[in-house]
Amino acid sequence: MSGLADGRGRVVRYLRLSVTDRCNFRCLYCHSNARHSFIPHPHILRYEEMARMVDIMYGLGVRKVRLTGGEPFARKGCGDFLVMLRRKFPDMDLRITSNGSLLVQHLDALRAARVSAVNLSLDSFDRQTFARVTGRDTLPVVLEALDALLAAGIGVKINAVGLRSINDGQMADFVHAARTLPIDVRFIEFMPMGGDTLWSEDYFWSAEAMLAAARACTELIPAESGAESAGPARMFSLPGGKGRLGFITPLSNHFCHACNRLRLTSDGRLRTCLFADREYALRPALRHPRLADAYLARMVRAACRHKPLGADILRARQGAAVALKSMQGIGG
Ligand code: SAM
Ligand code: SF4
Repeated sequence: MSGLADGRGRVVRYLRLSVTDRCNFRCLYCHSNARHSFIPHPHILRYEEMARMVDIMYGLGVRKVRLTGGEPFARKGCGDFLVMLRRKFPDMDLRITSNGSLLVQHLDALRAARVSAVNLSLDSFDRQTFARVTGRDTLPVVLEALDALLAAGIGVKINAVGLRSINDGQMADFVHAARTLPIDVRFIEFMPMGGDTLWSEDYFWSAEAMLAAARACTELIPAESGAESAGPARMFSLPGGKGRLGFITPLSNHFCHACNRLRLTSDGRLRTCLFADREYALRPALRHPRLADAYLARMVRAACRHKPLGADILRARQGAAVALKSMQGIGG
């Protein structure tokens, strides 16, 4: 069988590629209480090794790649890597998720790589709240990145993690952004990721409650999620608005039946489900002088056949955390 089908009729076409687990932010939902130890440098895949994995995945039907991290731009050469991917894969849908703090220096690369869109993580338009969430007082830099992307004609999606008692009083700011800017603003439920996560019921703001808060600010018109219809967000347009508002509900209403993703960590571990701790170590095979691409393709195909339903794992979770690794180590 060609392509990456699993036993549930799902076909994988989308790779989330983490280029680093390092980050210049300390977002409270992403970090854990535990001391974080970074992956040693020799274990991090070289860009050439990542490109080889993308090539193998392309051969298996993957047509969309998102660079993520950690903060992808915290790794030197990330912009050049994007351009390298574009050169090798002219028809690939290339995207990147970033905290925006180091982005302005890489605008030329984003343009040259013809990225379809940049997902910008932005949890508050209020400077103090932003600093509280991310541990960095850099809201003006991120807003500059947002403006620069729009001026360059690059599509933008804002990802905001909804946090009760932190940004739950600021829905009007996000509605204003979706009304006045040609962007998708998407709220994500706080997920209990990582062994010693800071997740708690007190912080959890459900998508239903976020939706109600948005409805208190504006009329919402259900919209197709468009080109990303396999994507997990419930999208709405706003009367007279330039952009849209969306809600991603991994906890309260999962979308595992339509999942078409694989994840590759920066040290070459394949993860077939965000919530499943099972990973397939590809790096030894990737670095083995006598193992060819066909061997790696077989490993990827075999892993995909056992792609779990994350919703089952969420249901069975004990205590707060659902996976041992935090998002920073997986790539979100
Ligand atoms: N550093 C980049 C950034 O922040 O955009 C890319 C990596 S980050 C891990 C990818 C996405 O995961 C971000 O949009 C972030 O908001 C989201 N994320 C991290 N931890 C999360 C959590 N516990 N629950 C929900 N979303 C989370
Ligand atoms: Fe860094 Fe992104 Fe995690 Fe924030 S969400 S700590 S920016 S990896």
